[in-house]
Amino acid sequence: MAVNALPLSAVVAVIGAGAMGAGIAQVAAVAGHPVRLLDNRPGAAQQAIEGIRAQLGKLADKGKMTAEAARAAGERLQAAENLAQLADAGLVVEAIVENLEVKRALFRDLEAVVGGHCIFGTNTSSISVTAIGAGLQNAGRLAGLHFFNPAPLMALVEVVSGLATDAAVAETLFATAAAWGKTPVHAKSTPGFIVNRVARPFYAEGLRLLHEGAADCATIDAVVREAGGFRMGPFELMDMIGHDVNFAVTRSVWNAFFNDQRFLPSLIQQELVDAGFLGRKTGRGFYSYA
Ligand code: NAD
Repeated sequence: MAVNALPLSAVVAVIGAGAMGAGIAQVAAVAGHPVRLLDNRPGAAQQAIEGIRAQLGKLADKGKMTAEAARAAGERLQAAENLAQLADAGLVVEAIVENLEVKRALFRDLEAVVGGHCIFGTNTSSISVTAIGAGLQNAGRLAGLHFFNPAPLMALVEVVSGLATDAAVAETLFATAAAWGKTPVHAKSTPGFIVNRVARPFYAEGLRLLHEGAADCATIDAVVREAGGFRMGPFELMDMIGHDVNFAVTRSVWNAFFNDQRFLPSLIQQELVDAGFLGRKTGRGFYSYA
């Protein structure tokens, strides 16, 4: 099926201006779309836009893009204050908290605001796309559009089809991700999709080793890097992802497999979440970033 990418004139709305939403907004703006960024924390979207502009400026300084392209991409970004300001979007990418009910409620509210042609992409790491779409009048318009952290650098994008996703919607998202310079793959909505499914043992075995007192985080990370050839060990990577996000993904995969012990969440990570030691974003996780 030959399906075209979203035209560059189409407005891309990104909801959630955290680590992922900001990265996705940057990718869409650099590709040439007008982008609107919305967050329910006052000032967060504007702050993220300023961060993206600074990031684009650094890329221009390093010669990775022209100063003119960086400036133009920065100008295509606009903060939105409410859903009504996303009414003309051709694509909405959701990158809010990893919680089914909150995502469902957002898409339901969104459906009342946008036009019938608008496509919905969720950046969920692990929640069933089928379940997120189930509350919609037109569940066919929603698919997973799963970027990896940091979105501007990581090429892979999983285009995830739920049971009700229209094939044409998945193909449009696939073509759009490719047009944005990414390497998309199609996946069905199974728990964790592809990457977060195969990555579960990477974190879980590292956490079990730590729990058993086999070695400390730095040693385990170093071994995985040196001997395994990975760019990061499990503890460095969890700190980068954020323990709130990573723990939510683990719980969601565990629940989805009816509490299969293979996916059992770790009490060590639960403690970090309870303490608010969420990794790099709070300055402390397994490591300290002060
Ligand atoms: P984050 O905590 O950095 O950002 C989430 C943002 O969403 C926050 O700014 C928050 O204020 C905002 N938000 C929450 N609820 C909202 C709502 N109802 N309306 C508007 N804004 C709202 O989280 P993140 O790491 O960017 O993750 C976002 C999503 O992307 C999650 O679904 C996560 O599972 C997924 N994801 C994360 C990673 C990662 O490595 N961090 C990778 C891939 C996918």
